[in-house]
Amino acid sequence: MLTVTARETITRLHMGRTVFGRPLYTVSAYLVDGLLIDSGPPATASELLRRLRNARVERIVHTHYHEDHTGGDALLQRALGLPVLAPAGALPMLARFPAIQLYRRIVWSTPRAVKAEALSEFVVTPRHRFEVVPTPGHSADHVCLFEREQGWLFSGDLFIHERARYAGPDEHVAGTLDSLRRVLALRPRLLVCAHAGFVDDACGALERKIAFLEKLIAQARVLRNEGLGEDEISRRLLGPEGLMTRFSRGHFAKINLIRAALAAADATA
Ligand SMILES: [Zn+2]
Repeated sequence: MLTVTARETITRLHMGRTVFGRPLYTVSAYLVDGLLIDSGPPATASELLRRLRNARVERIVHTHYHEDHTGGDALLQRALGLPVLAPAGALPMLARFPAIQLYRRIVWSTPRAVKAEALSEFVVTPRHRFEVVPTPGHSADHVCLFEREQGWLFSGDLFIHERARYAGPDEHVAGTLDSLRRVLALRPRLLVCAHAGFVDDACGALERKIAFLEKLIAQARVLRNEGLGEDEISRRLLGPEGLMTRFSRGHFAKINLIRAALAAADATA
């Protein structure tokens, strides 16, 4: 599945693998002024290529290495000869993608290695200048791209949802909070998220996400001090685990967010 929408001069390419006509899970890449920001999962690479053949695309730039953001690269690079820019921390993973869990292969398909160059402080296109803002937390290599004149913040997977309750085992909540505060200080006007799409009230949404995580950390700390275990804390604060936890065999689960929140509580104790 690939659907295209637009806001201002930004094109949203919304992608996902479908099973019996329904998308399993979706992610968006964005095209602005010849710059493709992320390239979707490997499963939709050929659809993306068909869509971009007649568009002006000069470069690919990545927010982080995850396969649902970089999976289109190998095919686009081969067919269109596009250079790929990525955060320095992503380069070893892109050159030799680490093995991923079965559920990720089912949802996104298996990524192939690509050659990329390290991002510097800015990405400049004919009409825009994007500041590369380091925003670790969701992954250690994560960056956002900020277009100051327009107030656009391309936030990759930093935001996802105001109350995202699932996390992978690498999530670092203290890092995510620092990163959210860093981008909030830029006072963006339009948040351009890989999962939530175009979010108009950018600062309000970031503030609410920060408040959600701060409260989660504080509540998790209180419950642990009362002697509760991680499973019980997770159930009380985030509700029972859902289908995604079973499907991913616990790799993508609510308990991971609680563990990360408790680690953040310890870090600020
Ligand atoms: Zn990600």
